[in-house]
Amino acid sequence: MVKYVYEFSEGNKDLKDLLGGKGANLAEMTNLGLPVPPGFTITTDACREYMHSGVLPPGLRVEVTQSLRQLEDALGRQLGDFHDPLLVSVRSGAKFSMPGMMETVLNVGLNDASVEGLASFANNERFAWDSYRRLIQMFGKTVLDIDGDLFAHALEAKKTAKGVAADTGLDAEDLKALVTEFKAIVKRESGRDFPQHPREQLDLAIEAVFNSWNTERARLYRRRERISDDLGTAVNVVAMVFGNLGDDSGTGVCFTRDPATGTPGDYGDYLPNAQGEDVVAGIRNTLSLADFEKLDPNAFGELKQVMRRLETHYRDLCDIEFTVERGKLWMLQTRVGKRTAAAAFRIAHHLVEEHLITMDEALERVTGEQLSKLMFPQFDVKADRTLLAKGMAASPGAAVGQAVFSSATAEAWKAEGKDVILVRRETNPDDLGGMIASVGVLTSRGGKTSHAAVVARGMGTTCVVGAEALQVDVAAKQFAVNGTVITEGDTIAIDGSTGEIFLGSVPVVPSPVVRYLEDGLDAALDEVAVDDEETRELVVAVDALLTHADEVRKLHVEANADTPEDAQRARTLGGQGIGLCRTEHMFLGDRRVLVERLILAKDEAEQQSALDALMPLQREDFIGILTAMDGLPVTIRLIDPPLHEFLPDYTELKVKVALAEERGDTSEDAARDKVLLAAVDKTREANPMLGLRGVRLGIVIPGLFTMQVRAIAEAHAARLKAGGAPKAEIMIPLAASVMELHLIRDEAEAVLKAVAEEQGVTLDIPIGAMIELPRAAFTADRMADVAEFFSFGTNDLTQTTWGFSRDDVEGAFFTQYTEKGVFSVSPFESIDTQGVGGLVKMAVEKGRATRPDITLGVCGEHGGDPDSIHFFHGVGLDYVSCSPFRIPIARLEAGRAAVVSGGGDTR
Ligand code: ADP
Ligand code: MG
Ligand code: MG
Repeated sequence: MVKYVYEFSEGNKDLKDLLGGKGANLAEMTNLGLPVPPGFTITTDACREYMHSGVLPPGLRVEVTQSLRQLEDALGRQLGDFHDPLLVSVRSGAKFSMPGMMETVLNVGLNDASVEGLASFANNERFAWDSYRRLIQMFGKTVLDIDGDLFAHALEAKKTAKGVAADTGLDAEDLKALVTEFKAIVKRESGRDFPQHPREQLDLAIEAVFNSWNTERARLYRRRERISDDLGTAVNVVAMVFGNLGDDSGTGVCFTRDPATGTPGDYGDYLPNAQGEDVVAGIRNTLSLADFEKLDPNAFGELKQVMRRLETHYRDLCDIEFTVERGKLWMLQTRVGKRTAAAAFRIAHHLVEEHLITMDEALERVTGEQLSKLMFPQFDVKADRTLLAKGMAASPGAAVGQAVFSSATAEAWKAEGKDVILVRRETNPDDLGGMIASVGVLTSRGGKTSHAAVVARGMGTTCVVGAEALQVDVAAKQFAVNGTVITEGDTIAIDGSTGEIFLGSVPVVPSPVVRYLEDGLDAALDEVAVDDEETRELVVAVDALLTHADEVRKLHVEANADTPEDAQRARTLGGQGIGLCRTEHMFLGDRRVLVERLILAKDEAEQQSALDALMPLQREDFIGILTAMDGLPVTIRLIDPPLHEFLPDYTELKVKVALAEERGDTSEDAARDKVLLAAVDKTREANPMLGLRGVRLGIVIPGLFTMQVRAIAEAHAARLKAGGAPKAEIMIPLAASVMELHLIRDEAEAVLKAVAEEQGVTLDIPIGAMIELPRAAFTADRMADVAEFFSFGTNDLTQTTWGFSRDDVEGAFFTQYTEKGVFSVSPFESIDTQGVGGLVKMAVEKGRATRPDITLGVCGEHGGDPDSIHFFHGVGLDYVSCSPFRIPIARLEAGRAAVVSGGGDTR
């Protein structure tokens, strides 16, 4: 038979799946010998069973009875007894703490009779009635689903009538009267009396916790955070301890380090004569821990010991809830605390210096995502700021601008040189122009995969989405938030790393971490004020962790870079080469006419003359890049996109030609346009993604790839002669068949040989293939006969594996796909490990079987995505290549991947 109930002494912190986070940690604290009130946890198994069948599992009731009896025997009190009753709290607690779950019900077991027993036992009538009114209030709101404001208003009215500001000003008689009122509210709103039977209270509360797993808010949160719907929640039943017994009692929360900055020390709040959430609810002013120490040095001393003990045990920042009952300390919750990105780095590094964790462990505790947050320019936290609301952090950055409510206005104002922030309920593909024109995008609806979030991230534009407190009225060009109205033209500031929205302008400061990454530790520290210990330690921590990541990682990190400037930047940020140098931009700008000549050529001679004109230009480009990357590999991809991308737009051209004809224009230009139109028409494709591109161009257009290979070879030779150490590599895009590779390789080798002879140098230039079509992956053993390296083009591989045209699908229906759970994250963002990843894995194995020393890398955008990097490490690639800005993130994640998979050292 399945066991549904665990005493605290039976669990431990590693059982979060079964006991939830709260239950597992209560068990851990109990076993550490800390003062935890006794209790038990009903497992997530029971919740899952309840979700399936709709009724509480049959054995559960019996097990609860047994555990309850044990609790009663241990304490010598009985649930809801007339004399000295045992009372309990009923607390939800899933594996991950999440909003939307049922709030805790305290004081379960009180009724009209036991409230008297509690009063006489505690010798405190006020306390007993305060506890009872709290029970009815919390039970009414959370278990019976009654509008909580009804109770809150009645409480307020009582305070006003009495002329007191705080709830502590109400005496026993007032609270008694309030209980009568609360019971009337329950009767009126739910149509039933407040349940008097203690066990009925308990059972109803347990069932309500299970039901809360599926509230709208909980489901929404899980979807956004990618938490599975079938984890279920546990329920904790805990003997009550009382912080509301008078001034020698109270309740508090504390952290063992500052979760905002990571600074070591005790941080927390304490509220005397209060229960539960009072301390964080802002009902009265709380005391700092320093004041708590003055008030009750003994309890504080004990708390300090417990904090130290917990931190030593968990070896991490702990977040703690406690209560003092008549001078005695009780621990009610602990967990490893959430923290900001900066705090994560500082804490990890501090713990290493305190010899509590190893460098490897420290690396596991920080993420590339956190590092990326530290790299964006930031709002000055020291500046005066007025927070309007908080939404979801969708695309990092700090943006200040004037609020606009339409795409058209955004574009018009931008043209006038203004910085604008586009505010919408949500965006759609029509807003693209406005989004491009804006320094930031803010929406009141949608999650991290909404159109606004996806597009803004893609463009690197700061974005906050799902700020539900905002009432956006696009027609009236304004939004209202908590009583403030912002109209078109008002300045606002949004923080895409925290989701915060501020009124007015907030000063922006450059990130000291970027300074470190670009110029090194000493230069960065020189810029930080001597007394700014927080920033100094942060930069030092980032350096220590990144250095360790570099030491342990197996993956090389290269850059996708097309220009000497990008190459230089990549190198500065730690790039170990260029994994993808696209050549298509070398066909743009004033070189476009040469491409036109190439396409319009009437014979091979004309074609060749166009190519001959392009060659030296390309050669100079390559010399620039090889110089910037001297000594490191530069993988140059031969031209990939269809040539018509370099020609004018069909519709525009057609209109132009039609107008010229109407005018009777017989000029040379008009004639040329006509020829061009015919060419554009001829090369138009219904589906260019799958058309004449990549290796196919090289095979169909004689001389095109030859020209590019010659440019590469001559550049390489020039660098050799100049005393450099060029390491060019030639990459053939979009091959599906080994025959395609043979054809291009033969052609390329002939060129390399010729250039080597002409220049009198040895050219050691490997030739490899992009693997970006399923067929290439399936035939990778044969491809490896010809290719000296593989580079996985996971963008196209994702498109061709899923049959998705990215431009068409991402904005159109990906939100629905993620909401309906087809995938939890876009396969373009993070590699689809099963499908696309399966092909990569297979190609790796086949490629290595044919050519054991084959070099394997990835150059799709996935190369900079943390989850994907872990996958690529796992399948044994040699390198990932990503945009220069993401290189530090990839370095860190590659190190983490090595550590997590057991590859790191254990210093
Ligand atoms: P949350 O999940 O929101 O943190 P908790 O279950 O921790 O909710 O409970 C809410 C408040 O009630 C907390 O302040 C907690 O310390 C307090 N609390 C819970 N159980 C007890 C108890 N048995 N005795 C006294 N206070 C309790
Ligand atoms: Mg809590
Ligand atoms: Mg491609």
